[in-house]
Amino acid sequence: MPEPSGAGASAGEQSDEFLMLIVSSPSGAGKTTLCNRLRGEFPGMRFSVSHTTRRPRPTEASGREYHFVSVDDFERMIRGGGFAEWARVHDHLYGTSLKEIERARAGAQGILFDIDFQGARQIRARLPDVVSVFVLPPALDELERRLRGRGTEDEATTLRRLANAKGEIAHYGLFDYVIINDDLEQAYGRLRAIVYAERSRRRRHAVRCERLLAEARGDRA
Ligand code: ADP
Ligand code: 5GP
Repeated sequence: MPEPSGAGASAGEQSDEFLMLIVSSPSGAGKTTLCNRLRGEFPGMRFSVSHTTRRPRPTEASGREYHFVSVDDFERMIRGGGFAEWARVHDHLYGTSLKEIERARAGAQGILFDIDFQGARQIRARLPDVVSVFVLPPALDELERRLRGRGTEDEATTLRRLANAKGEIAHYGLFDYVIINDDLEQAYGRLRAIVYAERSRRRRHAVRCERLLAEARGDRA
């Protein structure tokens, strides 16, 4: 293959169509709702199933939303170097295993991380090409309404999550994109627009561009 020579292309540029996307938010802002829609529209994006020491909610199944594990097992994984990132969030441990990323790289078009800002910081350091999105509620009283409306947490946990939200919002500067989830349709429209835009980046299409260029020049494949 000839060296890339088009305007803006850098020498030796490789295509990497694999999209790594972090979606993060304070609890209750709507990140799971948005991610579920994204997974429906982009089934080739593999959802990164995290490990956690928190208990499953009635609607959750082990291996689907999370790998639910004991604190001992989680700490064993930390010691064994099994995590790409991990953090304590709302009094529980959560982490992304290296295996999740390897599995996605082996067979999917991308990977979707639903992780908090501490995890986002670690993944960004490890995988600089990752794209990160922070979802925020339009106001804190609406965040509270949503968290309570979801009905998955007891009072103490709800209060803990609301209190933590203020600290989490302070980290918005870590993210590439911010989506205010006021109207769900509009927020989802923005999220899918980010996926389409990121998938259209030149570096993801370098090989295809070069192939076309070679054809235009009359080169043999
Ligand atoms: P998170 O994953 O960020 O904790 P969820 O996706 O579970 O949040 O959403 C919290 C609650 O808010 C859910 O009951 C969900 O149906 C609701 N919700 C999500 N987005 C909106 C929105 N734009 N307007 C109103 N309610 C919403
Ligand atoms: P929940 O208990 O509501 O499912 O998640 C609580 C918080 O933990 C959310 O902010 C969620 O994004 C975050 N979280 C889930 N999995 C991981 C993970 O693997 N690593 C990190 N750092 N945070 C996670």
